[in-house]
Amino acid sequence: MKYYIGIDIGGMSVKAGVVGDNGEIISQGSCQTFTDKHYSVMVADTYKLCEKILKEANLTKEDVSAVGIGCPGTIWSDKGIITYANNLHFDKVPLVAEFKKYWDTKVVIENDANCAALGEYAFGSGKGSKDCIFITLGTGVGSGIILDGKIYSGKRGAGGEAGHMVIKLDGEKCTCGRRGCWEVYASATALIRDTKTAMAKHPESLMHKIAESYGKISAKTSFEAAKQGDKLAVSLIKRYVKYVSAGVVNLINIFRPDVVMIGGGVSNEGQYFIDMIQKYVNKYHYGGRINPKVKIVRATLINNAGIIGAASLVMNI
Ligand SMILES: [Zn+2]
Repeated sequence: MKYYIGIDIGGMSVKAGVVGDNGEIISQGSCQTFTDKHYSVMVADTYKLCEKILKEANLTKEDVSAVGIGCPGTIWSDKGIITYANNLHFDKVPLVAEFKKYWDTKVVIENDANCAALGEYAFGSGKGSKDCIFITLGTGVGSGIILDGKIYSGKRGAGGEAGHMVIKLDGEKCTCGRRGCWEVYASATALIRDTKTAMAKHPESLMHKIAESYGKISAKTSFEAAKQGDKLAVSLIKRYVKYVSAGVVNLINIFRPDVVMIGGGVSNEGQYFIDMIQKYVNKYHYGGRINPKVKIVRATLINNAGIIGAASLVMNI
C-alpha cells in the first residue's frame, strides 16, 4: 500500500491524517491554529503533528509518497502559495516552501473545498462520475468543481467560487463586497438569520419550542419544525431550498455534471433536504425533459472530507 498525508488547515485547528491509497485514514490528529501569530508557527506545529501521526501509524517519513494540504481562500497551487485567506489573516504566504524547510518531499496545496470535491470524487459520493460539483453549506457556501477528474479552479486558483455568484440583484450584502451572492441566501448562516427574523414576527411558531429545547436557534430549528408541520417553518424551508436549488441549477446549466454533491452542516438534514433540491432541479434545469437528469446526492466523507480530500490531491501524480 502507498501512504499519503492529508492536511486540512482551518481557522480554529489544523487536522492531519495518514491516508492509504484506498482512501482509508490510518491515523489522525489536530493542533490549534494561531491566526494571530506568524504563519511559520503554524507550519512548525503542522510538521510536528505529521511526525506524531506517522509514529502512531508505525510509519516513517520514508513510507509517505507525498503530502497534500487543503486551505481556505485563494490558493495558487502551481506556486504553492496561499494568495489570500481572510479568516486566517494570510496574504501571499509561500506555504509549500515553508513546509519543505522541515520535510523536503512532494507537497501540493489547494483550496479546501476543491480538496473536498476531489476526495468525494475519488472516494465518496462522486465515485464513478466524470464531472461533478461539490457544494458545502455551512458558515458560507463553498464549492469545488471537478471536470474530467481534475479540479477546475481557473487562473491562479481564483475561480470556482460559486458561493459568490449573485442570485438576487441588489440583495443582502455579502462579505465579498457585492450584494445578493448565493452564499448570503444559501449558507447555514443565512438560514439562521431568516429563522430568527421569522420567529420574531411569529411567537406562536413551533420553532420557538424547538429552539428552546436545543438551547439555541440553529439551521436545525426550521427543518425540525417543518417536519412536524409548522406552517411558518415549512414556508421558510421552501424558500431556503429555492435559494439553494437556484444556485445548483445555475451550476448545472453551465457545467452539466453527472452529479452534484451537497455537504456542510445543512446536509445533515439528509434525504428530506436532498429530495427537495432534486425536485426543483428536475423541474428547472435547462432542457429538463430532454437532457439526462443530474443526480443530487449528500456528500459522504463528512468530517473526514478535509483530510481525505487533501491526501487525494497527491495520489496518482
Ligand atoms: Zn459574495
